Order: sequence, then C-alpha cells, then structure tokens
Amino acid sequence: MLFSNFMKVEFRQVKAGGSVFSFSVPAADLELEAEGFKFPEPIEVELTATKSGDEIIFQGTVSTLIEAECARCLELFEKPISSKMQFVIQFMDVGGPEDTGDDDFVVLPKTAEDYDITNRVRETIILELPFKPLCEVSCKGLCPMCGENLNETDCGCTQDKTDERWDTLRQLFGD
Ligand SMILES: [Zn+2]
Ligand SMILES: [Zn+2]
Repeated sequence: MLFSNFMKVEFRQVKAGGSVFSFSVPAADLELEAEGFKFPEPIEVELTATKSGDEIIFQGTVSTLIEAECARCLELFEKPISSKMQFVIQFMDVGGPEDTGDDDFVVLPKTAEDYDITNRVRETIILELPFKPLCEVSCKGLCPMCGENLNETDCGCTQDKTDERWDTLRQLFGD
C-alpha cells in the first residue's frame, strides 16, 4: 500500500498486478469548509489502480465525517459519508490533456508522470453532501408554536386552525 499526503497518483507506482493508493488529507486542504458543513476528520481516499493496455483504471472510495446543522431541529450532528469514485486515464502518443466530454475519462500524453485527483475528490464529497441535512430521517423538528425541540420534549402545545396555513407553506417550501 502506498501512502501520501498529496492527492496525486504517480503512474510509475502502478504495478502490473495493480496497486492501491491511499490518501488522508484535512478538509481545509480541499477548501471544503466553505460549503456550510464542517469536517472534523480527514478526507480518506482509497483507490485501486489497474493497468489495462494504454489505460489505467482507478476505482475506490472517498469517505469522511461531516458535521452539519439539522434542517429541522437546528441541532448539530455528525454523520459519516462515503462515495464511490472511479475514472479511467488513457495515454496517447501526442497532445496534452484533452477534454473528452466525459468527466470520468481522462486523456493524457504518454509522457505524463502523475495526475492530481484533488478536484475530483472535492467534487465527489460535495456531491455526497445532503441538500437538506437531517440528524435523523425521523427528526420531529421544532414546535412551530413555542420553538421547543420536539425530539427532546413534548411541549404540549395544541395546534389551532392557523396552523393549517403553515402546513401548506411547509409543504411548499419543505419543513
Ligand atoms: Zn434534527
Ligand atoms: Zn410547543
């Protein structure tokens, strides 16, 4: 197993029988802090590289822990996330990096020595972040009357007729 703090795969390290690349980098290095989530643990990447003719096939996972504010009860919670990542690098005799129109298919000149996966890892994490983070799928949220966290207490508020309009609004905008 190869280990590096830099998210760069070096092609000379890919052996005929395949190799595993492991990376562990702080989220700050990926400029992920700005996305409204916190990342208390490093971003872990494990990639298997397999040679096949003029191609190297990379397959693996990106995982970490996120800290977010629940969209319903506003409590902070932590949750592990993990996503598959795969891409193919094809080596050509001439030309530089080419836009193939396929994000998972990269063309490089045969003289290329390495490939930086930082942006790819960053995008993989961002795609995996929940649009509406919930501490639990069953989170009861806050009481619309008194603001108590209904996961922790039963405030006993009774809903009157005006709440029906709020329900409609909540259906429109999501609770
Ligand atoms: Zn919640
Ligand atoms: Zn209440």
